[in-house]
Amino acid sequence: MIRLVITAVWSALLMLAPFARAASDLIQVMLLDGQSAGTYHAWQVTTPVLKRELEETGLFNVSVVTAPPSGGDFSNFKPAFTRFQVVVSNYDAPAWPEELQSQLEEYARNGGGLVIVHAADNAFPDWPAYNRMIGIGGWRGRSEKSGPLWYFKDGNPVSDTSAGAAGSHGARLPFLVTTRASAHPIMKGLPPLWMHAPDELYATLRGPGKNMTVLATAHSDPKNHGTDRDEPAMLVVQYGKGRVFHTTMGHDVAALSCVGFITTLQRGTEWAATGKVTQKVPSTFPTANTVSYRSDIFRMDPGFINGPAAAPGPLVPKPPQSPDK
Ligand code: ZN
Repeated sequence: MIRLVITAVWSALLMLAPFARAASDLIQVMLLDGQSAGTYHAWQVTTPVLKRELEETGLFNVSVVTAPPSGGDFSNFKPAFTRFQVVVSNYDAPAWPEELQSQLEEYARNGGGLVIVHAADNAFPDWPAYNRMIGIGGWRGRSEKSGPLWYFKDGNPVSDTSAGAAGSHGARLPFLVTTRASAHPIMKGLPPLWMHAPDELYATLRGPGKNMTVLATAHSDPKNHGTDRDEPAMLVVQYGKGRVFHTTMGHDVAALSCVGFITTLQRGTEWAATGKVTQKVPSTFPTANTVSYRSDIFRMDPGFINGPAAAPGPLVPKPPQSPDK
């Protein structure tokens, strides 16, 4: 049993860039949201958190672009992809009009960056190019037809063609993240092991996995409805000239308040946009047995304001959930 020490980081000031950049030097980010399955993922709550976490680096200018609901009127939805160096997706929809699909494909093929956060890898199960971009995904009817399962066994990547559904997770608990590509710019300087704040540990993801490098894994605990495998937690994909950073973490504000999540989101977004990472790893980064979360971010959860039930998960473990997303 690991004894967890919770470190709350009270100030965001330590993480601010030492000098402000001219607006024209900022990396232009499109933060895409607008739909999620049912009520599982409150994008209205998580988008402002992601925006704040990116902008506090002093590197990014974030424009939120909200898509119409599925089956709605897309005729006036014309995101100007080429104005942005990176699209951060906090968006899970079943399908898009073909014209929009082509625009995102062209943007990525020509070098536009893409960041996939958590349930964004549930989106678009029947769009082959999107599944190439994200490497692996889950739910929305995905099966062995979507590609093999990808995981690590004895320290090596495995693709497993056995039949079955795609996408599962247990209750939201803290879990250890293991670095698998320490030389990658996103991972340089991160510890080999760190404890993530309570979150869904995604497992049984499937996909083409083409030009994919898994940066980190997390062990899916069979005692928590898990697979007993080391499941991909962060990965990168090369799609044409475009770089994709995909983190399976980030279910809710509690998960997004983890310093490990914040740091890798900030670094992954810079890398997807430019191919480089100029940011330092904060001294408050979690260790192998220490969750480190930002209380200023945690308080952006409306559930926190409504009562103590939303206190950090390790203190109040949540009951197992139905196998939603
Ligand atoms: Zn989720």
